[in-house]
Amino acid sequence: MPLNLEQLKTEALGILRRFYGYSSFLPMQFEVISHIMSGQDCLVLMPTGGGKSICYQMPALLSEGCCIVVSPLLALMKDQVDSLVANGVPAASINSMQTEAQNREVLDLALAGRLKLLYISPERLLNDMSNWSKYMKISLIAIDEAHCISQWGHDFRPEYTQLSVLKSQFPGVPVVALTATADQLTRDDIRKQLNIADAKLFLSSFDRKNISLSVLSGYSGTDKFNTLVRFIDRHHGESGIIYCFSRKNTESLAEKLQRRGLVAEAFHAGLSVAEKNRVQTGFLNDDIPIVCATVAFGMGIDKSNVRWVVHYNMPQNMESYYQEIGRAGRDGLEADALMFYSYGDVISHNRFVAESGQVKLNSQKLELMQRYAESSICRRRILLSYFNERIDHDCGNCDVCKNPPKRFDGSMLVQMALSAIVRTDQQIGLYTLKDILRGSSNAEVIQAGYHHLKTYGVGRHLSNLEWNAYLLQMQQLGIFEVAYNENNHLKITPYGADILYGRAKVQLTEFVKKEFVEKPTRTETVLDLELDITEQELFNKLKALRYAIAQQEHKKPFMVFSDKTLKAMAHDKPTTKLAFGSVFGIGEMKTEQYWKRFTDLIKRSI
Ligand code: ADP
Ligand code: ZN
Repeated sequence: MPLNLEQLKTEALGILRRFYGYSSFLPMQFEVISHIMSGQDCLVLMPTGGGKSICYQMPALLSEGCCIVVSPLLALMKDQVDSLVANGVPAASINSMQTEAQNREVLDLALAGRLKLLYISPERLLNDMSNWSKYMKISLIAIDEAHCISQWGHDFRPEYTQLSVLKSQFPGVPVVALTATADQLTRDDIRKQLNIADAKLFLSSFDRKNISLSVLSGYSGTDKFNTLVRFIDRHHGESGIIYCFSRKNTESLAEKLQRRGLVAEAFHAGLSVAEKNRVQTGFLNDDIPIVCATVAFGMGIDKSNVRWVVHYNMPQNMESYYQEIGRAGRDGLEADALMFYSYGDVISHNRFVAESGQVKLNSQKLELMQRYAESSICRRRILLSYFNERIDHDCGNCDVCKNPPKRFDGSMLVQMALSAIVRTDQQIGLYTLKDILRGSSNAEVIQAGYHHLKTYGVGRHLSNLEWNAYLLQMQQLGIFEVAYNENNHLKITPYGADILYGRAKVQLTEFVKKEFVEKPTRTETVLDLELDITEQELFNKLKALRYAIAQQEHKKPFMVFSDKTLKAMAHDKPTTKLAFGSVFGIGEMKTEQYWKRFTDLIKRSI
């Protein structure tokens, strides 16, 4: 039977409004929904925060029977189910965290046709499916985090490879595979492994417009730390993650932040399970706003109101970078991604790459990452082109767009640096070079007699930060090279020699010290609501009430309401039940539950 699209859309929008409190679909959602409703398989590739869940939840709500959702991560499964139940959708899960009696109870509900969505881990599904599947009306099978099926993906799960039996066991039931990361190889593999060769691909844009991108080059030591503190200050009271290079770094940074009076904790794979849980839960509950983490943090974290992500060091490749910044701003509100990038990072990564076993591939990836960090064109264009997506305009929401770099003739600076290198027979590293240029009297310089060099102190007029930034640029421009196998000593290239001896000139990008005092300029496409001061105060009160409710109900605050909903509430200031129910993100169930407490607070506050 051909689908009547208009009718389907009207019905779907009604459900969206009633259960989720949203009044329109996000890009691609309805296309996927109608495709599934016509009984066909598909593969959905959408970035984090793109709204994948509704792609299968809506068909589940529109169809008879129960949708089986296969999901590898227990924590995510629980969050999804809790959110659905909070919205009044009959959903439950079967997993190894629950007792067998509880699992049995869930299964009975499903068999009685009382569940719209049943979340289950792959091993559970494969083990006991044959016992009950023929007694259940299954509307749809959704495979979440579908990249786990592929050995090519970065998070391979052997349990996932058995899932091909689903298609043969339930030939008429549509299968939808969803993921946020899958290159071409992985996509093909997902189709093959799931036995859905003809599944249509829905590929949505990977552009996360609400995340502003910036990179600070050349910062180190105290300057870097103080800049970080200023950045955090600007995000007062908001949740954020700081990714660090090593476990040790996470701990020392957290400690330093604590000494500044900030609530920050370290998270890395070396912590005990109890400690990891404590930090993770604290973060989810808004009790611990700042987590200093290694890459281990974030998998399975589904917190919608992470407002900022800092890379305290440059990440090792673009995939990691994209994934990590993607943990910010899942609710669609603006979020900040800041990366610090320094010469030391390049050295550390090179050491890792050399030991990685896949030297060629990894050093290529590192180079592309570096190119992004050094970019003097719109960063989003580079980021997206890495994922084979092109935009035909500058984004307006990255540091390059907001502060286009100014260039100047840097030949003199190059000559200063290179003549110091020449006069030390190319036997010094970057740090010593800087000391010579700035006329530092540290022991090493004096011992080697470098303070007698003609170039000693010629670069005093520039700060340490400025020299960091300019030397980094010189290296990137190929003016000198770092001999990684020779104590990182600096070697002049032929191009460098041309500049040194006046045969060529070079342009450098002016270093601008960034102060994080002002809020970033906002672009219209990104933000729909701007709160004035009193609304901001109300927003903070609403957050406090949300926190109290979350504590009482043993929920995570963002599950009561998202930041976006609270913001809309602070803006709309509903004082009646009806007005409350029409705020963005508030469905019928939550209207019933919460309208009184929130509208009372709003009435008292305005
Ligand atoms: P993903 O799984 O792709 O990362 P989610 O399904 O978790 O994304 O959705 C991301 C956020 O967007 C959630 O807060 C969700 O409630 C919200 N969202 C989903 N669909 C819509 C919509 N149609 N309108 C507004 N917000 C939506
Ligand atoms: Zn840009």
